[in-house]
Amino acid sequence: MKNSQRKKIIDQFRVKPGEKVRLKDFDPAWMGTEEMRELGKRELKERAHAFLQQKLVDLAEAQELLWASDTYGVLLVLQAMDAAGKDGTIKHVMSGVNPQGCQVYSFKAPSSEELDHTWLWRYMKSVPERGRICIFNRSHYEDVLVVRVHKQLLAKQKLPPECLRADHFWKGRYEDINAFEQHLARNGTVIVKIFLHLSKQEQKQRFLERLERPEKQWKFSEADLAERAFWDDYQEAFEEALSATSTDYAPWYVIPADRKWVSRALVAEILTSSICGLNLSYPEVPAEKQQRLAKAKQQLENED
Ligand code: AMP
Ligand code: MG
Repeated sequence: MKNSQRKKIIDQFRVKPGEKVRLKDFDPAWMGTEEMRELGKRELKERAHAFLQQKLVDLAEAQELLWASDTYGVLLVLQAMDAAGKDGTIKHVMSGVNPQGCQVYSFKAPSSEELDHTWLWRYMKSVPERGRICIFNRSHYEDVLVVRVHKQLLAKQKLPPECLRADHFWKGRYEDINAFEQHLARNGTVIVKIFLHLSKQEQKQRFLERLERPEKQWKFSEADLAERAFWDDYQEAFEEALSATSTDYAPWYVIPADRKWVSRALVAEILTSSICGLNLSYPEVPAEKQQRLAKAKQQLENED
């Protein structure tokens, strides 16, 4: 597939800065353009697998260049409802990448030490160093998602009363997120944000599968079912957050997640093209160092 075709496909999932997101406008079961769908699901799925394999090779190469040039870091933010495939996406998309060049942080409910700091602190501590790809499996967005849906979590954040009473409290948080991401971007961090968009029906299927298949039962938590009851509140919180924080320097992509082979291929494409877009090349060795290298070579060759 041509670059321009791939770009066109990816573009339709990118939230344009200032755009008001309505998740209903994005089809979680999308599986290709009209032309692609004519191939039939089986063929399409096979091609998506082959595409993903190629992307893994490209990503490994791109990551090596990233490491060698030691200038940019890459932050991939993954957010989704439960069972949308965050863990599987990480496992598959990163499977070809040198583990030394990659970090994954899975954010859980904050510790008491974290709650003693402002909410962005723990995320700032984990951002990628130059040369690395870092994945936030859940992220600073939890503080405008789960914390917004369950207001009692906000009470745990120990904010002074006048801060809690501030007008436009959540708008303030979005502004802080944009400022945080702008700071990272201005200093050499490429930011890509993925919302894996799952339908409520598909979540039910995946939960049922977890309950029915013994090797998957460990994945099921009753808390997931409790969260499902807040589905609409979450969708609303996602819509607001995506609308307020998709920027040129840190765009959101709403990725169809009802079919895992679709979401994985798309995420791999987005991540790879974001790094390739930096047009990196291996650092050139200066003439003076070349001379020293030639000398070292000679020395080795002259050994007994
Ligand atoms: P899991 O990703 O399934 O291991 O679950 C992690 C849990 O931690 C989820 O229920 C999240 O909602 C919760 N969590 C993550 N970040 C935060 C946060 N900033 N505040 C409260 N809960 C959080
Ligand atoms: Mg979970």
